[in-house]
Amino acid sequence: MKYHVRALKCGECMVRNYITYADVWDETPSKFYLYVWLIEGGEHPIVVDTGPKDLEEFNKATAAYVPGGVVQAPGERTPELLASVGVDPKDVSHVFLTHMHIDHIGFYDLFSNAQLVVNKRGFLSALPGGVPKDMMVALADRWPHSLRLVEDEEVLPGIRTFHLGCHSECSQGIAIETEKGTVVLAGDVAYTFRNLEENIPIRGADLDACRAALERLKKEGDIVIPGHDPAVMERFPGGIIA
Ligand SMILES: [Zn+2]
Repeated sequence: MKYHVRALKCGECMVRNYITYADVWDETPSKFYLYVWLIEGGEHPIVVDTGPKDLEEFNKATAAYVPGGVVQAPGERTPELLASVGVDPKDVSHVFLTHMHIDHIGFYDLFSNAQLVVNKRGFLSALPGGVPKDMMVALADRWPHSLRLVEDEEVLPGIRTFHLGCHSECSQGIAIETEKGTVVLAGDVAYTFRNLEENIPIRGADLDACRAALERLKKEGDIVIPGHDPAVMERFPGGIIA
């Protein structure tokens, strides 16, 4: 199975460089984009990460290193964004999460027929306090179809997950077979292409784990896509990666 992978921009913000690059303490902010990733070519559309829903809460929590907060232009909220590319959320069969931070999971409940694919290690270690209660309630409603906890495995023909940790215990890479080779979505283990290309780990509790995660990403993918780099839209016009 060969898929098409597309980046959909769902917002932007400024993030201080000391968060993005662990090698120096630099308070200068640089632009981040937020993305929902769309995988097409299978029987149903598949989504990776769901974009933020409640920005007020997120922006308050991150004010120290995301000055000005996340802003979304008209049409960038996930429901409108998917409508603009002709995708009905009800038709989506799987929602993969690169990790469970609020800017990535906000609209998990938009996809009422989809199975949520989450890293097992991170999900279990986040219980009971780290997984939002309303999420558990929503998932329990459609249990057990609603949730698939995965490790390093092929989840669907041509789509694999592998554990990364580093940014979050829940962080996993998503590897997708395409005509251009294996595309890997890195989530926030690599915020930018510079993290990958200059081997600079993101600021995290365990820098060795973050370095190892960068190595793993490059080993797994022919094309590795960082989680928040605006340059994704320049390197892949229209966000069309493969
Ligand atoms: Zn993020």
